[in-house]
Amino acid sequence: MQNELTLYNTLSRSKEKFTPINSGMAGMYVCGPTVYSDVHLGNCRTFISFDLIYRYLLHLGFKVRYVRNITDAGHLEGDRDEGDDKFTKKAKLEQLEPMEIVQKYTLGFHDVMREFNALPPSIEPTATGHICEQIEMIKEIIANGYAYEKNGTVYFDVEKYNKEFSYGQLTNRKLEELLEGTRELGGQDEKNGRLDFALWIVAKPETLMKWLSPWGWGFPGWHIECSAMSSKYLGDTFDIHGGGMDLQATHHTNEIAQSQACNHKAPVNYWMHTNMLTVNGVRMSKSAGNGFLPGELFTGNHALLEKGYSPMAVRFFMMQTHYRSTLDFSNEALQASEKGYARLMNAIKLLDKLKTADTSTSNIADLKQKCYDAMNDDFNAPVLVANLFEGARIINSVNDSKETITADDLATLKSMMHSFVFDVLGLKSEQSNSGNDTALKGVMEVILDIRKDAKERKDFAASDKLRNDLAKYKITIKDTKDGVTWSIEE
Ligand code: AMP
Ligand code: ZN
Repeated sequence: MQNELTLYNTLSRSKEKFTPINSGMAGMYVCGPTVYSDVHLGNCRTFISFDLIYRYLLHLGFKVRYVRNITDAGHLEGDRDEGDDKFTKKAKLEQLEPMEIVQKYTLGFHDVMREFNALPPSIEPTATGHICEQIEMIKEIIANGYAYEKNGTVYFDVEKYNKEFSYGQLTNRKLEELLEGTRELGGQDEKNGRLDFALWIVAKPETLMKWLSPWGWGFPGWHIECSAMSSKYLGDTFDIHGGGMDLQATHHTNEIAQSQACNHKAPVNYWMHTNMLTVNGVRMSKSAGNGFLPGELFTGNHALLEKGYSPMAVRFFMMQTHYRSTLDFSNEALQASEKGYARLMNAIKLLDKLKTADTSTSNIADLKQKCYDAMNDDFNAPVLVANLFEGARIINSVNDSKETITADDLATLKSMMHSFVFDVLGLKSEQSNSGNDTALKGVMEVILDIRKDAKERKDFAASDKLRNDLAKYKITIKDTKDGVTWSIEE
């Protein structure tokens, strides 16, 4: 049933069969958020895409070690080796300790991931928790001759590295081309080469987050943390490394160089990159001002939003586009996803009520195979969704007595719909699983009891007031022959 899992490897620019280093196991490292501000929906797309990949590997039975770091030190403004680090800058702005900034936005990130029903990674290491490992790695790179120190800052020597290895292999660029795209070194630059990048950065008097190293007080460069933490938890060479496409040219290119220069091995067998979330064709980012936050999306409280959208409708919206294609945000697309999500959930609810027959009018085994074929083809979630909609169509037809299904086929269809919708796509039923919903149901029971008491006392003014007050929140109470019901207008 599983056949072969293939995935697109940025390194070879082709789809390849997935062969893990250790049979039945998979090691995956994904670059996590820089926790100096709230994650926007674009960041979420990348993490939700890798959640899908993690979930499918688990579904196929792999024992997965999924490492996703938290960048809580070393990320400089503008990704260059100059300026304040992002945490110090934000800490000064908000008049907080840098670690208060880190704590605040790490907790916020976890809340958002939970809302989107993303599974937590197996290990979530922080850069500040791995300063020793980063220092050791830098020492090794210097000892191997690929880095040099200048005034307390350590630089990676890209041109020297490129004599033995191909520095631009991930983006398929030659060193000469890369050099053309960078500015000339000025008189104040202390690096030897234009492409050289910092492994360790000397602390300025005002630097708040700093550690003592063999090169004096300073802090690690952004790229070295991922090399140090991925090799610590997954080994010098591991299966999958992921992140957004924007990380390919610099962050991941430098990660490969550092790991190779330290361990004499290529660190990663499969590099996977997710495409960007755009708004009207422009990449969503903090700087472009189009980076709305998940909270704003759920409430609809943003100029670009016509209304609020539930976390599961948004997750489903993301699943309807392949992770390597750009995904353009629009209210229309989200509203279509809301409907599609509801259609799937309603069909799943009907599964328990279907009557079986001696023959099936549809080929369920074939449909199930198509679901696997889609996901085995580089995690093609949109094709999977199309097959699940076909499943929903069959369920509705059987329910309307337009088609028939055998008991065996119904069992297959049920397990297929459940495992692909809930386990693989990571969707959940919003009514039954939300703590808020349970609380709302409880509150409504209390209110309806008070209303019943008022009516029994013939206090119709009080019972009408309750009904009218609830209407302000779009909650409608109806007296039916079977009792009182309530509903929320969508
Ligand atoms: P950062 O917190 O800036 O380090 O970014 C965290 C992750 O979000 C990285 O993997 C980025 O590539 C990714 N990312 C940033 N912007 C977008 C976007 N508009 N769409 C998809 N992924 C993004
Ligand atoms: Zn990284």
